[in-house]
Amino acid sequence: MNLMLLGAPGAGKGTQAAKLIEAYGLVHISTGDILRAAAANKTPLGIAAKGYMDRGELVPDMVVIGLVKARLQEPDAAHGFILDGFPRTVVQADALSKALDELGKRLDAVISIDVDKRALVERLTARRACRSCGAIYNVMSQPQTASGVCPACGGELYQRDDDTVATVTNRLKVYEESTAPLIAYYRDKGILHEVDGNRPVDEVFASIRRVLEGSAR
Ligand code: AMP
Repeated sequence: MNLMLLGAPGAGKGTQAAKLIEAYGLVHISTGDILRAAAANKTPLGIAAKGYMDRGELVPDMVVIGLVKARLQEPDAAHGFILDGFPRTVVQADALSKALDELGKRLDAVISIDVDKRALVERLTARRACRSCGAIYNVMSQPQTASGVCPACGGELYQRDDDTVATVTNRLKVYEESTAPLIAYYRDKGILHEVDGNRPVDEVFASIRRVLEGSAR
């Protein structure tokens, strides 16, 4: 099963991706994670990408398209994948479609997670991630994480550099301008499923499972 998660920053794509991976054994392809790892390792790509990321801007299309094309060709992607945070522009979506055709693959479903704008800023600025296991938390709704220690593995919790109020505002603007049009793009292709992401994590996940049970091959 090959899936795509669409949604604004803070909609819960990463959280739902983690649950989908566990349930279906899919490979997680998150361009944000790939770019953050490159930035942490100070590779030339990472150094170049970090400036865009810290400003809440998109990294140039050609860079991310190259990353995803290479990742899709790795052997583990043959058993199914989840695209998270890619595509973010129509240019990227067209390039993806071409790459999938060339590889003889197709997308089974695009899940759009819809969350009210007001909640997004709140969620993003309260988001913390674990440096060791990658789990994602919300310090407001999960006060047990306020100590900065991951409840799952004891690792250090940190705030992403681009989850500050100033950067978040720009990321949401960029989403509206460049990425939101992809909802209509995939609706036109007949593979879009919209899920209300304003509900608790497990309810959102149950809705996604229902969608997948209906569209799985
Ligand atoms: P994310 O973790 O998906 O929120 O991505 C964090 C940041 O990485 C974004 O704000 C962009 O700067 C960059 N990024 C991630 N995915 C893409 C993409 N598909 N196209 C362009 N920039 C991206």
